[in-house]
Amino acid sequence: MSELPYPYEAPASQALFDRAATVTPGGVNSPVRAFRAVGGTPRFMVSGSGPYLTDADGREYVDLVCSWGPMILGHSHPEVIAAVQDAVARGTSFGTPGEGEVALAEEMVARIAPLEQVRLVSSGTEATMSAIRLARGFTRRAKVVKFAGCYHGHVDSLLAAAGSGVATFALPDTPGVTGAQAGDTIVLPYNDLDAVRAAFAAHPDEIACVITEASPGNMGVVPPLPGFNQGLRDLCRDNGALYVSDEVMTGFRTSRAGWYGVDGVEPDLMTFGKVMGGGFPAAAFGGRAEVMAHLAPAGPVYQAGTLSGNPVATAAGLAQLRLLDDAAYAKVNAVSQQIQAMVSEALTKEGVAHTLQNASNMFSVFFTDRPVRDYDDARAQESYRFTAFFHAMLAHGVYLPPSSFESWFVSTAHDERALQRIADALPAAARAAAEATA
Ligand code: PLP
Repeated sequence: MSELPYPYEAPASQALFDRAATVTPGGVNSPVRAFRAVGGTPRFMVSGSGPYLTDADGREYVDLVCSWGPMILGHSHPEVIAAVQDAVARGTSFGTPGEGEVALAEEMVARIAPLEQVRLVSSGTEATMSAIRLARGFTRRAKVVKFAGCYHGHVDSLLAAAGSGVATFALPDTPGVTGAQAGDTIVLPYNDLDAVRAAFAAHPDEIACVITEASPGNMGVVPPLPGFNQGLRDLCRDNGALYVSDEVMTGFRTSRAGWYGVDGVEPDLMTFGKVMGGGFPAAAFGGRAEVMAHLAPAGPVYQAGTLSGNPVATAAGLAQLRLLDDAAYAKVNAVSQQIQAMVSEALTKEGVAHTLQNASNMFSVFFTDRPVRDYDDARAQESYRFTAFFHAMLAHGVYLPPSSFESWFVSTAHDERALQRIADALPAAARAAAEATA
């Protein structure tokens, strides 16, 4: 692909963004889409096919966001589309139980040993919110431990990521979340078992659960250090708290059994979204049958949803999961490794300090030469280099997540042509990163 002017114009996207800004706050329906971290005009996409997205200006990009994870088979996979068309033709929502939701739950339970029962919901946020409520209802305790830099959706009590040090009570991170809502949340540094030990010691019999991203991707990819998740598991068990593993991002992406398939640490509760919905709003939480039995109508902890288990969403999710066999994961992992190697080589060639971190096929590039183990480490990177890198990749037809605190995502559809496009884009992007100034 020829060198494009940088930054270049995107008039059709800009016109749509202007229209959007009059009827939608900030012009987008989810903040990171607005490009605030990198500047410029967000690209309004009109279609997706395999590893490519096409924007309103007719420009094609290799997509390394994959809808923030769900599109692990690429866009418009023919078998997923066929399953959706078949489901749509039979009706779009019944408000009754249906076989599709049973089949999707069976597929999930069959893949993950500690997942004995699941409840379907419509978003990852709903899944974590409900899992926290269930953990509190089950243990009859109030406090929740989460880790700085881990994102669990926009659940009020989990938007508290401020505060540092051991067992600091969190202050709300956003207006609209009250001290009362965040007051039972304890935010700890990631990968720090001593901090968790100290929190349990300071709050005996008060902590309902520890929730953690199974392998974090929301501060960039920062995998758990060896023994960290097992340590959490053991501390929870020893202190009568539940271990809640948030697999919304990693679930059915990092292996056929998600991150559980990688580290084998058994959670009490798990949350899912993204890949299991095949590009539709389907998500879930689940875990030990004994805990799930406390959920309405079987038990007293209330939880419900008009569109939960929607027949079209479950058809898409089931079709996608059934296509995700060992060969598919081997392909995604190989593509991911190839791209990581190419990125590292290009940056090294230009003398740009960087650290690539991965969790199976999820990966991100930190513009620092030091390993990133927690949120403070992630924030210490030279993000301005990412901004230059991002825009140069975009100008050369490669769409990256518009923030240096995100995972990159690939799919089985990323073929040689797509990889060549990335290879062609990288030299100029690495140069831009090298030349960037704070
Ligand atoms: N949990 C994790 C680990 C996530 O990455 C996300 C979203 O990115 C969520 C929860 C929230 O999911 P949703 O955006 O579907 O509400």
